[in-house]
Amino acid sequence: MASSMSFPYRIIDLTHTLNESIPSWTGSCGFHQEVKLDYDLTTSDVSFRVQQLKLHAGIGTHIDAPAHCSIGKATVEQLDLNSLIAPCVTIDVSAQAHEHYSVSLDDLALFEKIYGAIEPNSFVLIRTGWDQFWNQPERYHNNFLFPSVSKEAAEFLLQRNIVGLGIDTLSPDRPESGYPVHATLLGAEKYIVENVANSASLPPTGSFILALPIKTRYGTEAPMRLAGLIPTA
Ligand SMILES: [Zn+2]
Repeated sequence: MASSMSFPYRIIDLTHTLNESIPSWTGSCGFHQEVKLDYDLTTSDVSFRVQQLKLHAGIGTHIDAPAHCSIGKATVEQLDLNSLIAPCVTIDVSAQAHEHYSVSLDDLALFEKIYGAIEPNSFVLIRTGWDQFWNQPERYHNNFLFPSVSKEAAEFLLQRNIVGLGIDTLSPDRPESGYPVHATLLGAEKYIVENVANSASLPPTGSFILALPIKTRYGTEAPMRLAGLIPTA
């Protein structure tokens, strides 16, 4: 008997769309998309539009490879797909998050009390709700004030042996705190994903992440397509 195969997951796009005016660390995302050849100028029967891209590597929804902070650590092309495709835990602090907020040990303890211990090799996604400002670049940047993650929380997540950490802000570190989350996680060969979109769509546990950066040699950061998979069965 014929059966129709359906993909047993709902797919969530967790990626912001790149364009010239999106928020970025420096205030200028450096995105430039130029048409090098256009349909009506094509000389063949089939017409084409050919484009050239220029952008900062750390643009939009992107990955920080371990090499972002120190020489000798893994670069983007060396990241193992087995760590980039992983179970996902989504910790929602949006009810209490604000521009000076740092995810604390208490936040993680409360999460684990309700949902159980964070499993090894999970990707942990922090949802702060800050992506509501994505379309207001100055508000989103906010002079480097946005919800982030404490050093203690990063160290705890490292003890849980997560594969990586994602957040819906410019960074899990505010410059004022130094960069302890980057130092802790990247120093331990974990990766970081910044500027995550649509994390409200993910459940606390039971989903999966596809964190797929473009594969650049010697890349320390790279733009990516980030997707969530929620089992439907
Ligand atoms: Zn970063």
